[in-house]
Amino acid sequence: CSICCNNLRHSKVDNDSLTPVYASVERVLSEHVSSMRSSLVSESLVNDVLFSSVKARDVVPQHIVAVPLLSKNVVIGFVVGYAQESLFAKLELLSWLSCRLVIVFNRIKHFSDVKHSALTDALTGVFNRVYFDAMGTKELEKLNGAEQPSSLVLFDIDDFKVFNDTHGHVAGDQLLMGLGQWLLENVDKKNIVCRFGGEEFVVFLPDAKSDVALSVAENFRTTIAEHLEITISVGIVSCLNSSVSLQKMVQEADIALYKAKSLGKN
Ligand code: GH3
Ligand code: MG
Ligand code: MG
Repeated sequence: CSICCNNLRHSKVDNDSLTPVYASVERVLSEHVSSMRSSLVSESLVNDVLFSSVKARDVVPQHIVAVPLLSKNVVIGFVVGYAQESLFAKLELLSWLSCRLVIVFNRIKHFSDVKHSALTDALTGVFNRVYFDAMGTKELEKLNGAEQPSSLVLFDIDDFKVFNDTHGHVAGDQLLMGLGQWLLENVDKKNIVCRFGGEEFVVFLPDAKSDVALSVAENFRTTIAEHLEITISVGIVSCLNSSVSLQKMVQEADIALYKAKSLGKN
C-alpha cells in the first residue's frame, strides 16, 4: 500500500528493491486520479495500457486499486493498494480509509498553518519575537555548553518615516515584504532571522565570531543600499563562549545600533 499526497509518497511494500517500479506506477496513477477524480481498479498492470510507460511492471503485484484523497472536491493525493489477487472487494474499505485520511491530513495541515502563523511575522515572513526569544535562548544555552561563540546583528531602516511620508505606507509595507523575502532567501538557514519591531530586524548567528558577524552585517548594509531606496544602520554583538543572555545581547547590539545612528546612519 502507498499513500501519495502533495508529491510525497509513503509506501509499505514487500520488497524495497521494487520501490522505483512502484514509484513509476504511482506517477501514472497520480496523473490519472487527478484528472479523472475517481477510483481505479486494474486487474493486470502488464496488460493495462494506462501503465504501458512503466518499465519492469511485471515484477510487482498485478492487481491494484487506487482511490483519490478528495478534500473539498480537490484531489490532494491518493491511496493505492497492490495485491496478487483481485482488489475489487477492497474498494469500499479503501474509500472509507481515504475519507479518514483526508480528515487527518487536514488536521495536520491546520495545525502546521496555526504553528507557522504563531511563529512568523505576517508581513515579512521572517520569524517573530516569540520564536526568536525561544529558539535564540535555546541555541545560546547549547553553544554555551560547548563553549562556542555566537553573534547577533540588529538593524533598523534609516529614516523610514520619511520613506512612508514620501511614498505612502503601502509602499513602505511592500519594501518591508521585499526585505523579508531577501533575508529569507539569502541568510544561511542555521541563523535565526526575526522582525524585531516595526522596521527593525535581528539575526542570531550561532557559531559566528565578530568577524563573521561584521561581514554579514556589511553585506546587508551594502546590498540593501544598492538595491532598495533606503539604507540601514546596524549594531553587532559577539560573545566568544555564548555565556550571556539573549536579552543582554540585544541590549548591547541596540547600544551599538544607536551609536551608528548618531554617527550619521548607513
Ligand atoms: P531612524 O533613522 O532614526 O530609525 O528614523 P526612522 O524614521 O526610521 O524611525 P522612527 O522611529 O521615527 O520611525 C519609524 C517608522 O517606521 C515610522 C513607522 O510608521 C514605520 N513603520 C514601522 N512599522 C511599519 C510597517 O509595518 N509598515 C510601514 N509602512 N511602516 C512602518
Ligand atoms: Mg528607523
Ligand atoms: Mg526603529
